[in-house]
Amino acid sequence: MVLPIMRLKARREKDIIRGHPWIFSGAIQAPLPQVPRGGLVDVYAIDNSFLGRGYYNAETDIAIRILTMNQDEPIDLDFFKKRIRGAMKLRESLERHQQTNAYRLIHSEGDLLPGFIADKYADYLSVQFSTAGADALQGLFIEALVAEMQPKGIFARNDIFGRTREGLEREFPHALWGETPDFVDIQEHGATIRVDIQKGQKTGFFLDQRDKRGLIGQLAQGKSVLNMFSYTGGFGVMAALNHARKITSVDQSGPAIAMAKDIMELNGFDPQHSQFIVGDAFTEMDRMIAGGEKFDIVILDPPAFAKSMKDKPQALRAYKKLNKLGLDLTAENGVLLTCSCSGPITLEEFRETVIDAGVKANKTPLRIFQEMEHGIDHPVLLAMPESRYLKALFCAV
Ligand code: SAH
Repeated sequence: MVLPIMRLKARREKDIIRGHPWIFSGAIQAPLPQVPRGGLVDVYAIDNSFLGRGYYNAETDIAIRILTMNQDEPIDLDFFKKRIRGAMKLRESLERHQQTNAYRLIHSEGDLLPGFIADKYADYLSVQFSTAGADALQGLFIEALVAEMQPKGIFARNDIFGRTREGLEREFPHALWGETPDFVDIQEHGATIRVDIQKGQKTGFFLDQRDKRGLIGQLAQGKSVLNMFSYTGGFGVMAALNHARKITSVDQSGPAIAMAKDIMELNGFDPQHSQFIVGDAFTEMDRMIAGGEKFDIVILDPPAFAKSMKDKPQALRAYKKLNKLGLDLTAENGVLLTCSCSGPITLEEFRETVIDAGVKANKTPLRIFQEMEHGIDHPVLLAMPESRYLKALFCAV
């Protein structure tokens, strides 16, 4: 198939050659061919060398996202099957070591499929199409997923805000293929976790925190644990399975806390033995500090305070305040796990913020013994540092 051609201006090919798949509208030479929203194009440098094949959207700054740098690779069913097989290979170890049967199978650019997300929850898949190009190709993607994964069902979570930037509708969650269960029970580090793929946050669960939950489990024996921003209590159940002494979970979402109780019970623990609080993290932490409470392990896993660059100064202040409160609640010789999933904030900036919080809380010098970013199921392109959204610091206090 002959595709429309887009040619870049002089010296605008460097990032593409280095493996960054985005082309901004300002880098493309006029006149532009007519391409429907999300349609495929071939991209050439000014010297006529082939750069890549991707999809185009005139309505966004990121006009083109490259799908392949191989001129002989058409974007067809085989292409998607190959990408999915590659993604499965990378994640084999997760199932083999029986850590889990739930993981991100396709992580957008990180799996060389910009705009495509697919999360595997046992026999079910939950998918998101965040760009017009991915949306236009969803039929092939679904067909390839069915062929390679044989899922019992595929569910669409296109209720994400990012779609509006691409001129797409936000959709109500709906089934795309096969059956849709009310809940899916998954396994992670020996815990059973119930996931609501229809109404849960993100695609149902925060798969990107699995490795941090595992390490908290290793640290938890005999400890009191404060799990702030707990969602459905993943960190807490991991701590309970590893014989933590006391677990307190706080989240502002009533449904998340209700599910957290169910999950505790599902794993053989009496939810009465843990404390579950529906409330605002900052308010609850102030209250605990006023009551003189201390915990051996404090976990801070808030939602992204900075969604874009303009939120950054305000977000850094909020992280500093939050971490100061967390440090106030950490007992002597305790551990603070502090996380940020704000894309615009770098690891370096996050470290500095935690140091500042330590000064405010009178807990200097702080030490860290583990820094984590994304697990194996959330690979990122080396040439695309801005997609490293997740930072987690394990601090010795
Ligand atoms: N640690 C969780 C994921 C946390 S996601 C896990 O491992 O599964 C962030 C959570 O913060 C969400 O559940 C959201 O409901 C909650 N949240 C957002 N703002 C909050 C606030 N101000 N106070 C308490 N919880 C909040």
